[in-house]
Amino acid sequence: MCSTTPKNYVILPLDNALHKQNTRQICMMALVNTPQHVITGGFMDKIYADLHVHSYFSDGSMSPAETVEAAVDNGVGLLAIADHNILECNYLAPELCFAHGINYIHAVEIDTLDKDGLQHILAYGFDITNSLFVDFIKHSRFLLDEMSIKLIECMQSDYLSISLNDFFEYEYNKQLGGWKGLHYLLDIGISSSLKEGIRFYSDYGVTHSKAGFSSIAATAHRIKNAGGYSVLSHPGDMLDTSDINSFKEEMKRIISYGVDGIECYYPNNSEAVTQACLKVCNEYDLIITAGSDCHGTFFTNRVGEMDIPVSNLRLKELNEKIVRAAP
Ligand SMILES: [Zn+2]
Ligand SMILES: [Zn+2]
Repeated sequence: MCSTTPKNYVILPLDNALHKQNTRQICMMALVNTPQHVITGGFMDKIYADLHVHSYFSDGSMSPAETVEAAVDNGVGLLAIADHNILECNYLAPELCFAHGINYIHAVEIDTLDKDGLQHILAYGFDITNSLFVDFIKHSRFLLDEMSIKLIECMQSDYLSISLNDFFEYEYNKQLGGWKGLHYLLDIGISSSLKEGIRFYSDYGVTHSKAGFSSIAATAHRIKNAGGYSVLSHPGDMLDTSDINSFKEEMKRIISYGVDGIECYYPNNSEAVTQACLKVCNEYDLIITAGSDCHGTFFTNRVGEMDIPVSNLRLKELNEKIVRAAP
């Protein structure tokens, strides 16, 4: 509970909206002025972290304001909106977070290539004004959008109802989440659901390996040059976990490319997967993060899904990159 205030903490003034909220949410009013990893137990255990949420700037369904409101509702006191290959939320979210006493970390989730397959790398705490990094992220988003254009171009010879010109003109409601290509295929009756449309990309050979995304090593290097830190996204979803020892070796291989941390806490993880991630992080003194991968209504995960306290993370130098709410 919030009955005592640890030394070196500053309590933010409660605004009118937050006066109405429950104890768990009021606990979130803490503004951490010392590195969080030195404080454990009690107060900090009520402040949850979610460093992996998507807004409607990529394939989530929520606006930045709705995302921050969901964070408040779920007791999240440290938030990062990590949209796919786009930085837009990072220009809007900090102010929205500060209005609710939430701390924020700049973030983006980047498509990368590993062994000819897709791997997601989260970037945190980078300089959002670094023009080389901004251009790199814009190029990644361009490559992602090009995949849908190539798919529609291929499919129009097989389906009379598909037209590349129509696709260029097509607009969809971003508050439904998902991607333009998936909405287009659903709206013209080619697929029966947004998720069913995903299969057409592989059916037509429009794959990440052909799209020209950067390697993990090159991506980690660019993140570092922009003053940021790289974290391997949801390894339990992307790597084979059937043999936990092999899974750990694969994570170590990826870390060797210059990646700074692992997203150890993730909704789909089994306990064995989480423990394997933590073990590799402890062995190599890596950053430990938690992410819900909430996409609003596009998937079922909610912001702050795992109720992981900030004190369970190991942010290391990333602590210095937290954009803190003013006292
Ligand atoms: Zn991902
Ligand atoms: Zn994600």
